[in-house]
Amino acid sequence: MTTFVPRPTAVPYITARQGEEGDLATLLVASPDLSRLRYLDEGPEDRDHLGVLWARCSQLLHNGVPLGKPRWREVHPGRQRETMMYLRCQVCAGPASRTELGCLFLHTRPPHGTVEPGWPEGVLTTQPPVCLEHAVMASRQCPHLTDAGYVALRAKRPRLYGVFGHAYTFDRRRGRVRHVPSDGALPYGHPAARWYLASQLVRELRDVTVVDLDTEAMG
Ligand SMILES: [Zn+2]
Repeated sequence: MTTFVPRPTAVPYITARQGEEGDLATLLVASPDLSRLRYLDEGPEDRDHLGVLWARCSQLLHNGVPLGKPRWREVHPGRQRETMMYLRCQVCAGPASRTELGCLFLHTRPPHGTVEPGWPEGVLTTQPPVCLEHAVMASRQCPHLTDAGYVALRAKRPRLYGVFGHAYTFDRRRGRVRHVPSDGALPYGHPAARWYLASQLVRELRDVTVVDLDTEAMG
């Protein structure tokens, strides 16, 4: 069976736009004591409240609304971090939906046969929450969600877990930092965080209830 998926009618707040530029990685250096990654011209806004370095990316905003054509597959690190940190809707940046069952998230279903016991309790996500209106819209329009199948979740404790991004190391032979492969999210407090450039904030969803969006939307 094929399902008609209309073109999205709203560009999510967190989607990166054409004209928004990341800073060149050539600005990344090692601290003088080689203890951590830093920017050559680093300022206090380059690190989060737990000291992790963040990817820079310019923003083109008009009255708080991003401008420019969407780069659909890319997420703006600053806006992802803002909405995830303050539990705001990733589409409209308004307050995320919250009930006695917790804050609303959408999550793609794992491929058939790979679901671990207890899933989705404790799932890690880089997808900021949503308001109810945009949960319904995204579940119908977002190609990523409609292709893979999604589940709507409410989490009473969407715990701040860590960051997702790129790992670096200091190459002593060449005398400069270089990118090294890494996978998965890095928890806050991990020693590797000193050599990490974060681009997305990660939450661990605890006290999770799977909910039905159509039922909620009717209520
Ligand atoms: Zn919204």
